[in-house]
Amino acid sequence: MGGPAGELPEITGAKVGQLVQFPVTPKILPSEGTGFEFKSRRVHFYPLYLEMLDFNHPQARWRFAASRENDAILTFTKLMTLLPSPLRQQLLPRISRHLERLRRINREHFAASEFIDHAISDLEIGYKHIANLQSNESRLDGHGVCPVCGSEITDLADYSDMTYCNTCLDHIQDPRQRLASFDGFGFDAI
Ligand SMILES: [Zn+2]
Repeated sequence: MGGPAGELPEITGAKVGQLVQFPVTPKILPSEGTGFEFKSRRVHFYPLYLEMLDFNHPQARWRFAASRENDAILTFTKLMTLLPSPLRQQLLPRISRHLERLRRINREHFAASEFIDHAISDLEIGYKHIANLQSNESRLDGHGVCPVCGSEITDLADYSDMTYCNTCLDHIQDPRQRLASFDGFGFDAI
């Protein structure tokens, strides 16, 4: 690690199959702010450390698998925030399929991590809470405010699943971040 400000530090020494944290000394911080970009395996970034994944290790595929299940849960939960309550309930079995896959991935490939298990359970509590919020109206058109909390509906037309109530979605954000973290499935590093 090192080099003058603004240069890309070379990343070396990644342990096979493990997420690793690379300390970054202040002298290579090019400027204030946060953010990073990948160029092959060379990295230019500002945070205090970087988490990186060895994509060739067998474990990596299970991190990707967990990421896909997590994304599916997010997509359905976003949809729920737009629907009247009875339709929210209909989505629950579909979400639970993906949740059970997350639990299986944890059991079979992450040594039944208690940290992950706890986050999965909190994720389940979060989306069930959203399912139980009382709404009589649909906001599938992406217009107006959320009937539950009064927040403006987020609607990014260029993305297929970017219409939702961001305030209501907050009920699942903390467990999602834990699942993505270094202590969880680690797909923050993907
Ligand atoms: Zn809302």
